[in-house]
Amino acid sequence: MSEFSLIDLIHEQISVRREDVVLGSGDDCAVLQPPAGKQLAITTDTLIAGRHFPLDTPAHAIGYKALAVNLSDLAAMGAEPAWVSLALSMPKQDGVWLAEFARGFAVLAEQHGVQLTGGDTTCGALSITVTAVGFVEPGQDLRRAGAQAGDDIYVSGHLGQAGYELRHQSAPELRKALNYPVPRVQLGQALVSVASAAIDISDGLLADLGHILAVSGALGAEIALSRLPVATGPAALTAAEQWELVLAAGDEYELCFTAKPGQRESIAHLAGSLGLALTRIGHVCADGAICLVKSDGSLYHLSRHGFDHFFEE
Ligand code: ADP
Ligand code: MG
Repeated sequence: MSEFSLIDLIHEQISVRREDVVLGSGDDCAVLQPPAGKQLAITTDTLIAGRHFPLDTPAHAIGYKALAVNLSDLAAMGAEPAWVSLALSMPKQDGVWLAEFARGFAVLAEQHGVQLTGGDTTCGALSITVTAVGFVEPGQDLRRAGAQAGDDIYVSGHLGQAGYELRHQSAPELRKALNYPVPRVQLGQALVSVASAAIDISDGLLADLGHILAVSGALGAEIALSRLPVATGPAALTAAEQWELVLAAGDEYELCFTAKPGQRESIAHLAGSLGLALTRIGHVCADGAICLVKSDGSLYHLSRHGFDHFFEE
């Protein structure tokens, strides 16, 4: 199969066409027309086989996740996704594998109306780099910096499932949360007028909350362990094992955000309208440490800092 029929195969599967794409794939560059008055948010993430996903991951899941992790970054910025490009390095020209990969990628492209506007295809170790572009209103992007002492801390969804699957599910097709994370695109856009800061949880809740606190001015936090929303897999484990997975395993792509206590009602309303849990897990403090508080009021310390990341960033 030639490089060009491989590229055609990708575009056959990923068939979203948008009017703001003046010139799509096929020339030396794509030409794109942003809406008048909007700013562009742009992000890139690379997935390397054996490092960011297990080697036995199905092609469909790899394609899905390559787009999911990038849409998650746009979500965490409050951006509306529009365009993506795909740089793909593969060890051999395998049309069957590539069609499955592209079908997985197309699931989210179609869901979010995102057009694949071009890319690059090379021969080499399996690695996927996606660049995603979205729109934000000027001054309305949702940054990591912006949290203040006294703000509430929230997390979307239920946590710990991806880390649980990586450690406890040997069959790749059982790793649903790990392979098919849901980027919280609608939530991110809705949070623009509600949250003071936001981030997606790719490195683990504690590490990513730590990023918000650090760039917001060396702030700290108090987290109530009993409030953490635990997913079904880890719920069967001991409390300490649950906390480790929920706080440190990562690869979750939920959003962690901060908001003024005056926003509690709108956040509850938003959770209802999205059908998505938005759990208040603690609050931001002026002094720069993160305290994990047990239900008896005593402090808990994670056994291993940062946990044993199988697949690091
Ligand atoms: P160039 O020589 O300019 O790098 P290529 O031969 O790599 O061009 O690509 C030809 C066209 O196919 C370009 O428009 C490019 O954007 C598109 N393309 C290449 N690889 C991919 C891919 N993996 N996904 C989508 N489009 C691709
Ligand atoms: Mg090229």
